[in-house]
Amino acid sequence: MSWTERQQAMLQEMGIRLWVSRVEDAPDGAAVPQPQTQTQTPTAAPLGPRPGGVEAMDWPALQEAVSGCTACKLCKGRTQTVFGVGNPRAHWMIVGEAPGEQEDRQGEPFVGKSGQLLDNMLRAVALTRGEAAPAQQVYIANSVKCRPPGNRNPEPDELAQCEPFLIRQIALVQPKIILAMGRFAVQSLLRSSEPIGKLRGRVHHYQGVPLIVTYHPAYLLRNLPDKARAWDDLCLALDTVNAVPAS
Ligand code: URA
Repeated sequence: MSWTERQQAMLQEMGIRLWVSRVEDAPDGAAVPQPQTQTQTPTAAPLGPRPGGVEAMDWPALQEAVSGCTACKLCKGRTQTVFGVGNPRAHWMIVGEAPGEQEDRQGEPFVGKSGQLLDNMLRAVALTRGEAAPAQQVYIANSVKCRPPGNRNPEPDELAQCEPFLIRQIALVQPKIILAMGRFAVQSLLRSSEPIGKLRGRVHHYQGVPLIVTYHPAYLLRNLPDKARAWDDLCLALDTVNAVPAS
């Protein structure tokens, strides 16, 4: 693949070094070497019981149910719930973990440092949470809609209580591709506690929708070499969605 100047600038912003080998310039165009990186090995807790009742809700009812939810202890510490953002008919759906401090304050997912990185990554492949055609838009939601205190990991019962909301959001968006970022999104959607490093690099499915597993942006901010792998994941998602026949 060759990069446009804009993509190169974005990759630089993401902290991804472009490996341009001398052979790439050669007339016979050999493969570009990939940076060597490390993977994380998280472990997962089992999910708890799941409440019902949201599977028939429309957007306004769902939003109201989320904002009034008191099903777990996270409701006590929140400033507000963080529902989701983007075009509800977007082709791409991004699933993260849980709101942090900024998200809790602003009521929008991924607006802190992780969000900046996510936005840069998305921009690099011409995607946005803002105004655009549905094929260029993402809808972003978290596995958990309230901020865990001190940004701790969400607990199994919190994930379980919130899961029907995420499931309904996916059903309403009907995305063409899902990007599951980090182990909590993967636990909710794939029922897998395998490390991200073992799940990434291939196409999974959630309810018939292609799903790509990738690292969480917060992890990438701490593990810079894995940004190159996250970039590969994004390219895999792009190739996958482009291979889906237009409906
Ligand atoms: N991390 C997430 O997973 N979601 C957010 O909204 C912010 C940080």
